[in-house]
Amino acid sequence: MSQSIAVIKGDGIGPEIMDATLRVLDALDCGLTYQHIDAGLGALEKHGTLIPQASLDAIEKYGIALKGPLTTPIGKGFSSINVQLRRHFDLYANVRPAISFPGTRSRYDDIDMITVRENTEGAYLSDGQEMIDDGDTGISVIKVTRKGSERIVRYAFELAKNNGRKKVTAVHKANIIKTSSGLFLDVAREIAKEYPEIEFQEMIVDNACMQLVMNPHQFDVVVTTNLFGDILSDLCAGLVGGLGLAPGANIGEKAAIFEAVHGSAPDIEGKNIANPCALLLAAAQMLDHLGMNDKGDAIRLGIRTVLETRRDMVTPDMGGTGTTDSFAQALVEYVQS
Ligand code: NAD
Repeated sequence: MSQSIAVIKGDGIGPEIMDATLRVLDALDCGLTYQHIDAGLGALEKHGTLIPQASLDAIEKYGIALKGPLTTPIGKGFSSINVQLRRHFDLYANVRPAISFPGTRSRYDDIDMITVRENTEGAYLSDGQEMIDDGDTGISVIKVTRKGSERIVRYAFELAKNNGRKKVTAVHKANIIKTSSGLFLDVAREIAKEYPEIEFQEMIVDNACMQLVMNPHQFDVVVTTNLFGDILSDLCAGLVGGLGLAPGANIGEKAAIFEAVHGSAPDIEGKNIANPCALLLAAAQMLDHLGMNDKGDAIRLGIRTVLETRRDMVTPDMGGTGTTDSFAQALVEYVQS
């Protein structure tokens, strides 16, 4: 049966890398039907809003969206569409794999881990929920709930269980921020008991930063609260060579949105040199989410193979002499071989 997904091509390099990604998905014969929806600068011109109601309705209807990067216009009155989508659909889990690929400049070449960041509470509250900002004193609030902690920790354990991963590390600062981080840790310990087959480790965030840099291979799935997750997931992207190959998923009960972590790169728009890998890896995450793990694996293995063997087809940011189109073509040839 065909599965419909909402597709946001995005701004800047978005359409180029989305076209490349959809070519590869088509070659894999995933049985997906694409419902193209407006968002970003194009939507602003056409509808006067960055994310029209019809686009939100389509994401709700199909439950899955593949999204190119969106430009947030500079100036007052525009809030990030990503934040809007996260709030609208209560996308509580931000899931970011950090996997080493050949040909990247990085400290390690064999990292394979996933960060699971709580996406809706912690230190990132809606406007107006901050405590004091009188010009002399700023006081912010950290909100952690049992419900929010339970669902993110359970998500991390289920992810580990369903993907043959062996260990979940809960990262916290319960020794100092006893109330909120303490609650998160208590809940993590409780949920861990439901998964005796998966090793549970707890680690204070400052130590986690050092351990990630010194000995990252000890990590498998890392689960943490919003602010720590924001920082740690970028640290992990740095371990595997930066944001160029970093995909991310934002998962909620009713919708899941898959995207590249990088932005719309207006400096290289229209030049056919944008690297499509991050969006392709996001599409692979989407296929995993839809239960098509074999096809997700085919994309990951294809990227690895093309990076190793077809330097002439790879984009310049990866040291190749190819284009966005040739990178996609090499992957299409790989999956059809
Ligand atoms: P950026 O990620 O767009 O670009 C940073 C640098 O990386 C640029 O030199 C760019 O050319 C390069 N780059 C990025 N992606 C690349 C790719 N796939 N292949 C080759 N090179 C690539 O960050 P920025 O310049 O700070 O932001 C530009 C716009 O993107 C802003 O409007 C910002 O709000 C938006 N943005 C959107 C998202 C998103 O939608 N998820 C994320 C970050 C930034």
